[in-house]
Amino acid sequence: MNLTSFINEIKSYNPAADLSLLRKSYRYAEKKHEGQTRLSGGPFFEHCKQIAQTLIALKMDVVTISAGLLHDVLEDTSTPREELEREFGAEVTNIVEGVTKINTIPFRIGVEKQAENLRKMVLAMTRDVRVILIKLADRLHNMRTLEYLPREKQVETAKETLEIYAPLAHRFGIYRLKSDLEDLCLKFLESDIYYDIARRLQSKRAEREEYAQRMTTLIRDELQKANIKAEVFGRAKHLYSIYEKVHRKGTAFEDMYDLIAFRVLVNTERDCYSVLGTIHAKWTPLPGRFKDYIALPKTNMYQSLHTTIIGLDGKPVEIQIRTHDMHKVAEYGIAAHWRYKEGIPADVESGEEFEWLRRIAEGVGDLRNPRQFMEMMRGELFPDDVYVFTPKGDVKAFPVGATPIDFAYSIHTEVGHTCVGAKINSNIVPLKYQLQSGDIVEIITDSNAKPSKDWLRIAKTSRALNKIRAWIRVEERSQSIELGEQLFEAEMKKLHLNSRRVLKSEEMLQVAQSLNFESVEDLLASIGYGKTSASHIANLIVPPPETEEKPEKPKPEISKLIEKSDMGVKIAGVDRPFIRIAKCCNPIPGDEIIGFITRGRGVSVHVADCTALPQTEERIVSVSWMPDNQITYPAEIAIQGNDRKGLLADVASAITKTGVNISGGAIKTDREMAENIFVVDVTGVEQLQKVVDAINRVKGVISVRRKKRLGVRG
Ligand code: MN
Repeated sequence: MNLTSFINEIKSYNPAADLSLLRKSYRYAEKKHEGQTRLSGGPFFEHCKQIAQTLIALKMDVVTISAGLLHDVLEDTSTPREELEREFGAEVTNIVEGVTKINTIPFRIGVEKQAENLRKMVLAMTRDVRVILIKLADRLHNMRTLEYLPREKQVETAKETLEIYAPLAHRFGIYRLKSDLEDLCLKFLESDIYYDIARRLQSKRAEREEYAQRMTTLIRDELQKANIKAEVFGRAKHLYSIYEKVHRKGTAFEDMYDLIAFRVLVNTERDCYSVLGTIHAKWTPLPGRFKDYIALPKTNMYQSLHTTIIGLDGKPVEIQIRTHDMHKVAEYGIAAHWRYKEGIPADVESGEEFEWLRRIAEGVGDLRNPRQFMEMMRGELFPDDVYVFTPKGDVKAFPVGATPIDFAYSIHTEVGHTCVGAKINSNIVPLKYQLQSGDIVEIITDSNAKPSKDWLRIAKTSRALNKIRAWIRVEERSQSIELGEQLFEAEMKKLHLNSRRVLKSEEMLQVAQSLNFESVEDLLASIGYGKTSASHIANLIVPPPETEEKPEKPKPEISKLIEKSDMGVKIAGVDRPFIRIAKCCNPIPGDEIIGFITRGRGVSVHVADCTALPQTEERIVSVSWMPDNQITYPAEIAIQGNDRKGLLADVASAITKTGVNISGGAIKTDREMAENIFVVDVTGVEQLQKVVDAINRVKGVISVRRKKRLGVRG
């Protein structure tokens, strides 16, 4: 393997190749890595050549092969980026840089690191997909030389390869790389099984090859009789796919009829179906095993007809039928894209095969949560598809596990937003129903319906997930604006100003802009979101008189308090805010309380001295309890007493006698002392006091106290 052999090989599939670029990058990389060795002891440049060799086997363009030779120059030599760009231009340099960026963060166990790394990978791929081809070739050689690394590192690398790189190769349809990577992973992760399968395959090799030979000849003869020009061959499946069948699906090794896959390659699509007809006329097909990936291509563009027939000696035999072009796609996947296409920019702006990548790239910016991102990647990387039909008979493909919600969003965003149910084959199903191939799906909509946050757990496709998230974001913003408006209005009322007029004034816009908001609406959203204080804005509009002392925050007067809110809490001057009772301190009526403006989730109500509350003055609002509301609130009480028999029952009955409901409890016994914790639903501190008094009267009770924190019990 040297420059001359590379040149000869490239010329054989690409006579017009720019060989000067290849020569230059070869010599440049060789010089840069001079003296460096790998852990195997061999020269580092050998690694670069191996990668070039893999890329040449995929018949890639010279730019990719050159970038492959140079892929470690930025990272492992002191070459500055500028120098590389000066020598080789932007195209090659961008690819090398893309590969380097993926390199610099090692994958570690932990979702966050993985997500971060995958995100980088996706972004690099979006800029130039050839980055991933080099990365895959790089990983392949690293897997091939994994034996030189410590055991721990071997496992880590192999796992990562199996979880990320092999699925990526699969997703891009590069079957050759995928199967090599998988076999190597098996070798390092399950070496006993790997060698066992290899040994068994070897022991029956002669037998198998003889069988393949006989079967191939028979098929060939049959096709000749039918006057179809075809290439027929049979070859053993790769180890990992055998492993999956034996160890995951529980097939006995002896029953492994499809250790050999037979392939028939023809010139036209029509011929594929003729071959199928001819084969089915001669041999009995196994029911349920026929798949038409020509009419319904896989998401990675794979096309083929699959069937299993009862072949020679009554053995089931799997046959794949496709055209030469389809075969190229099946073997090389997207790599086939760059053959003979020297100089064509390799972006992912267009092209169906990159649709999923664009989808992910679109979602990348929104997905700050690493778990969500990983889930989306997983969904896109393992696209075992199901095919379903619209009522009109159009076919749609979805990843396994997709639901009617995914279907609804695939029709139109509005259909997704308003979907309330679905009919599958005319039967009504819940939204979480998992679509099955062949289902006829009809979506039921209701123009008043809205998406729910729960859908994020139900939907599978990134399109649906992105649309639902976008909707929630808009919804939260409009709620924040509404709350911001109400809080601002309350401030204006104190100053006897008409809030509506102020909001429309030029002054208001100036204040907003001076604080770097694009609009008054943005400012209001920020107030509602708890990032900006309404009183601060009020002070900017109407500066407080300097001589006078700042008046104390006026306590809300009952008459000014408006309308009842759901939680029995009201905010001074604010109409129907969205309110939650904080779980950290569980205030009940009678407790002194304050409101805290949460980010995007309305106001949470805490006891005034809640320790869990951040010390951020501007996000605090005055709140008070609605008088005489009939709502009950959970309060936790801890009771200590002798560990006497029946104490618990007596306490419980004492509580119930006060007319209060017990909604939870726990017991902790420590030597002779027992601590019983009850959660009771009370209307306020007065009622709670009655409960406490009643418990105190029970014989054996030593102390009763209210726990303000609902922490871990027991
Ligand atoms: Mn490398």
